[in-house]
Amino acid sequence: MKPWGVRSSVVALVTTSALVITGCSSGRSGHSTDVARPSDPSTTGAGSTGAAPAVDYRAARSSPVMDSYYPQHGVPYLDTLHYGLKLDWQPGTKMLTGVATIALRVTTERTSIRFDLGAPLQVTRATVDGKAVGTSRSGNYLTIRTPELPADSRHTVVIDYSGRPMPVRAPAEREDVQHVGFTTAGGGAAYTFQEPFGAFTWYPVNDQPADKAFYDATLISHDGQRGVFNGQVVSSTAKGSARTTKFHLDQPASSYLTTVAFGDYRHETATGRHGLPINYWYTAGDTASLPLIRKTPQIIAWAEKQLGTYPFASTGVVLVPGNSAMETQTLVTMTNSVRGIGGRDVYRGDYAHELFHSWFGDEVSPTDWKDVWLNESLTMFMQFRYMASHNIPNKYGSWRELQSGRDQLMRDTQGPPGAYRKNDFGDLNVYLSGALMLHNLEKAYGAAKFNVALKGWPATHKYGNASRTDFINYMDKALGSQAGPYIKRWLTAERTPAALAKQS
Ligand SMILES: [Zn+2]
Repeated sequence: MKPWGVRSSVVALVTTSALVITGCSSGRSGHSTDVARPSDPSTTGAGSTGAAPAVDYRAARSSPVMDSYYPQHGVPYLDTLHYGLKLDWQPGTKMLTGVATIALRVTTERTSIRFDLGAPLQVTRATVDGKAVGTSRSGNYLTIRTPELPADSRHTVVIDYSGRPMPVRAPAEREDVQHVGFTTAGGGAAYTFQEPFGAFTWYPVNDQPADKAFYDATLISHDGQRGVFNGQVVSSTAKGSARTTKFHLDQPASSYLTTVAFGDYRHETATGRHGLPINYWYTAGDTASLPLIRKTPQIIAWAEKQLGTYPFASTGVVLVPGNSAMETQTLVTMTNSVRGIGGRDVYRGDYAHELFHSWFGDEVSPTDWKDVWLNESLTMFMQFRYMASHNIPNKYGSWRELQSGRDQLMRDTQGPPGAYRKNDFGDLNVYLSGALMLHNLEKAYGAAKFNVALKGWPATHKYGNASRTDFINYMDKALGSQAGPYIKRWLTAERTPAALAKQS
């Protein structure tokens, strides 16, 4: 997520801021999910049991947890493996009709399972392994009564639903994301920002970062609109006033990193280094931001020099009417308003920030929201470097200013970066305080050693999740024995720790 400028009373910062997957239940449930379905040689069929076929979902195998910050979202016993989403959006009535085909593993024995699903969405039918099952709703929860599901068994759940999606209140004070989830705009356009949760406002989901899954989506749009989703377009066909566009995402994603948008979109493609496909989704009015997002190949190339090869099969951006910016996997969700975000310089820095998240946040994602600093601190550190090397003014203050007082102000008002206040998600402490910690480590251990450590981190949990303990242990090994204790203390200290002494 983009860094956000907070109340002037706090810091006076005006920042303005390869696995191929197949769906599982086709032909058995009676639902026609019609998701993009590239061939998968590992599919061995369901046999006569009706259970999910033995598709190789190993890369999506997760160890979900009860999130320590937002335990009301997600459950630890569900490990979703693949979502096949078929979504039909009617811009006139603002009705969303969906079919979600979800391949999952239960980690413990179950006779019911629970998804997050927005209260405005009505479930009309659900099946488990092809058999119709009962459901019940309570607020933003959908409970499905299942046959006895043994521990560590795999199944396919299909859920038909429809309704007028609504965003929900965010646990945040920053003004650009007071609400999260599926949001409608003028002309029946729709988009979403959904960190730390909010995917559940448009599909049934285990809405927590620790559960990564593969995604395929089929979006049906009307009246000249196009639907946009993460990843690459597999096919696009028109019939009458309806258009069907299928998308495939190449690697597992946490639900907060998915995105959807409907609008009068145009699709422009470009090619980056190593033939990297780049997708630009924008509308006719987005002329001011176009020259800035077309810098994507140069931004990625700059980052690759420091962090190694870009980790996904495609990149790009969908421009939306909201005020924020989000590192949705392989397709950044970015405000279309250059003026609204604070001008060209802020836009440049923030867009680069979202692309840097491809390594820090998307390739490796936090296990628990207490460690959102793992995303934002490392990405912000890269943004500082980028701004410095591209002569973009830095409105966040110098390292010296941060160390000598601003960091303390953030700790006082927003909490330490690793123990932020729960109703103040995504405030500047998780960006700037953690970035300062990295700067202090770089000073203490030297740029050469530090850069190797930074570059090596994402691959240690490639396409998976990591905790602060993982990061502490990694840095201890990569830098030296003072690094781990320093990070541990920095993340929760009430007072700004002193800069770390130079290590020999
Ligand atoms: Zn960010």
